Amino acid sequence: MELVEETPFRFRIEPHGAMRVPGVVFASRRLLPPKDDGSLTQVANVAALPGIVRASYAMPDMHWGYGFPIGGVAATDVRAGGVVSPGGVGFDISCGVRLLAADLDRSEFGHVAEKVLNGLSRATPRGAGRGAVWQLSRDGLEHLLAEGSRYAVERGWGVQRDLERCEDGGAVDDAEPGRVSARALDRGLGQVGSLGSGNHFLEVQAVDEIYDEGLAGAFGLRPGQVCVMIHCGSRGLGHQICTDHVRRMDESMADRGLSVPDRQLACAPVDSAEGRAYLGAMAAAANYARANRHVLGVAAGEVVREVTGRGLDLVYDISHNLAKIESHEVEGHRRTLCVHRKGATRALPPGHPELPPDLREAGQPVLIPGSMGTASHVLAGVAGGDAFHSTCHGAGRTQSRHQAVRTIDARRLRRELEHSGIVVRGSSARGLAEEAPTAYKDVDAVVAVAEGAGLCRRVARLVPLGVVKG
Ligand code: 5GP
Ligand code: MN
Ligand code: MN
Repeated sequence: MELVEETPFRFRIEPHGAMRVPGVVFASRRLLPPKDDGSLTQVANVAALPGIVRASYAMPDMHWGYGFPIGGVAATDVRAGGVVSPGGVGFDISCGVRLLAADLDRSEFGHVAEKVLNGLSRATPRGAGRGAVWQLSRDGLEHLLAEGSRYAVERGWGVQRDLERCEDGGAVDDAEPGRVSARALDRGLGQVGSLGSGNHFLEVQAVDEIYDEGLAGAFGLRPGQVCVMIHCGSRGLGHQICTDHVRRMDESMADRGLSVPDRQLACAPVDSAEGRAYLGAMAAAANYARANRHVLGVAAGEVVREVTGRGLDLVYDISHNLAKIESHEVEGHRRTLCVHRKGATRALPPGHPELPPDLREAGQPVLIPGSMGTASHVLAGVAGGDAFHSTCHGAGRTQSRHQAVRTIDARRLRRELEHSGIVVRGSSARGLAEEAPTAYKDVDAVVAVAEGAGLCRRVARLVPLGVVKG
């Protein structure tokens, strides 16, 4: 496949075969994925989706994923038969990141680090299917699916102000709990307030560098500040919804006369029975994911307060696996689009009406985890942001989990992390190896490219002090 280098940060795949639009890959030469990992072919495959507009985009942290690449962004025109594809959202629906900041300096943290990490480890259920912070009845779960974090606040978890610091005010509209299968409900019932496994984590970090003082101040961040970052999603419930609807759409495609280059891109028109059913269930899973991060954040705040006497304030909560119905201008016309972001983050520009009043001038905070041994970043949305106001979501893998387990010595990794002052809690050797820093791209390079490509700007760089792994 031929890649045309348009700028040092932007490559283009000319339409060929079934592609309806070009592919656009935001990357540097160094960050481009290897040709044999299949992810560039996936960018081209996505460009063949019915109703796709402008381009099939990939972010600098891109790598291979189910159907869509991780780091993929694609928008379809709802009124022109545009489709929604569950593979464009991913199995962990509304997986995302929450950042909380403590009124605490890293110099005050050292002597309580072990205690705080032990407390966080106890307060954070993790692993496949074990324990949850919030035991809900089935009726409670249905409320949570409809109202997300708003329901959690209503039931005494956290405070009203938290909701202003969440994308969509803590809950997406149009959730239809009635579209969620019994199996998905069963899987979700006992997991509200749990990390899950592997790539999901709760990390204590310190602000190490500020790139933009004004924006950092607006987000409530200062040099040396101790923060807590939480990465998790919709657990078994989201996974089951994706499975259910991929199957259903796959079965309906022939009848609708739809074809795609890869079966994993199973899709249906947004405006069809299958499309609406998926979007209603997906939105319910998104609300589940937000409430999940919300209650984990509240539980973490209690631990930090108990040990240090200082609480945690929410900086922001974002999702990086979602499809959203949004209005954008395309070729001079306002269009209603279904924007898929899979391993990509929305980055609203300054002035956007969906931002809370006190962040409206700053633009949206964007949270980028890197790895447990390197850095993580806070970015902000910018005016004119490309790819429907989207940017990266992480460092992105260079090695599959399988490869990482084969090549990385977990015991040595744990020693190295502890040696550099990072407290590690609760991960199997296998889990640790899968998420080794060397299995990921250089996050500093990824965010520099995202900024260079005009997708966002850098605000602050955070470094890990301790990590609780899923
Ligand atoms: P994903 O949602 O694609 O599973 O993961 C998002 C990003 O999280 C990855 O691309 C990686 O950069 C980052 N990540 C994975 N594990 C950790 C961790 O333990 N700590 C931090 N800070 N980031 C991580
Ligand atoms: Mn996830
Ligand atoms: Mn994620």
